[in-house]
Amino acid sequence: MTRSLCILGSTGSIGTQSLDVARLGGYTVEALTAYSDVKTLEAQIREFRPALAAMADEAAAADLKTRVADTGVRVLSGPEGVAYCAAESRADTVLNAVVGMAGLAPTLAALRAKKRLALANKETLVAGGQLVMETAKQNGVPILPVDSEHSAIFQCLQGASENRALKKLILTASGGPFFGKTAAELQNVTAADALRHPNWSMGAKITVDSATLMNKGLELIEAVWLFSVSPDDVQIVVHRESILHSAVMYDDNSVIGQLGLPDMRIPIQYALTYPERLPSPVGELDLAKLGRMTFYEPDYETFRCINLCRRAIHKGGLYPAAVNSANEQANAMFRRGEIGFLEIADRVERVLEAAPEKPAYTYEDILETDRFARETVQGG
Ligand code: NDP
Ligand code: MG
Repeated sequence: MTRSLCILGSTGSIGTQSLDVARLGGYTVEALTAYSDVKTLEAQIREFRPALAAMADEAAAADLKTRVADTGVRVLSGPEGVAYCAAESRADTVLNAVVGMAGLAPTLAALRAKKRLALANKETLVAGGQLVMETAKQNGVPILPVDSEHSAIFQCLQGASENRALKKLILTASGGPFFGKTAAELQNVTAADALRHPNWSMGAKITVDSATLMNKGLELIEAVWLFSVSPDDVQIVVHRESILHSAVMYDDNSVIGQLGLPDMRIPIQYALTYPERLPSPVGELDLAKLGRMTFYEPDYETFRCINLCRRAIHKGGLYPAAVNSANEQANAMFRRGEIGFLEIADRVERVLEAAPEKPAYTYEDILETDRFARETVQGG
């Protein structure tokens, strides 16, 4: 169980909800990091009084240093500063809520320093799954999922026997804001349309990933690494209400699911309190009031990103990293209005087809793949 925390990406959607959980649970906060949101990080430092803080953006770090000079916090800068906090703070647990590939280096730094890792940053596992899982194993530290679906699966697996007798994972998807739309109807949707998510309030990148359903593809790959399953044993089901957060089916066809209101503070808290459970600020689920839950097959033809991810994890090696970085670039370009919604999948597919094959890889290979994917997407 966690006693003290380092939160990476503390100013974001998951980061601020993690601080909510930390506040209520009375955790000591040893380190906080962000990219450039100086105002929010300053307020958090004044409330939680960490010993260390870092901002990936150098200018923001310099600004923060002046603002919090009276607090005694040590302020570091750049990606190295973030990784330093992950490894060197006195926290027993690192909660990684950074968005994107930038989370990979601090994930590896935390694991090498033998910290328990509560992981929201799914891109870390998509881009470097093999490396991350091996590093965790070598250092004898657990990776506790924060992503709600993976937390659900992790909860459903508690008490399973050693050989697990696990038949498949059932990964639920909200379907996003464009559920039921045809490709023709999606031709001209804008970032503002995509940012209106029905059930969850999240950062901009993952909200767009939920609209393309790339998020579910990334989560499929995340599940393959976290739970050592074949991608063919992961069924994706659209469930609009986001109440059943995912489920597992055992060999006897018994299905065990985890349900609750859609509020990330439940999975965040479980990652911190595991194997214990504590009271939560989140309200109770009232099934009689809810009335019904619905389930659908995903529309794989309109929302092509899921199968691009499936192809990438089947091909293995650096293909998932290529798809992840291509998506980060295309997602950002869509949010800036530079490409259309449907072009996200087109560009990701082009990278999947053009990426070189390399079954075994190092951290440097992942960075090289990242550069290749981004350049290819930008080139059109
Ligand atoms: P946000 O965009 O809200 O927050 C991202 C955080 O990361 C911010 O603190 C940001 O700092 C920091 N950050 C951004 N870029 C960098 C960088 N290059 N180096 C260091 N820090 C950086 O994202 P979310 O909280 O929505 O998502 C975080 C992660 O959690 C993602 O991987 C997402 O997929 C995953 N996740 C999110 C869920 C949600 O409900 N939001 C649900 C499940 C998973 P600053 O504020 O200064 O820019
Ligand atoms: Mg999720």
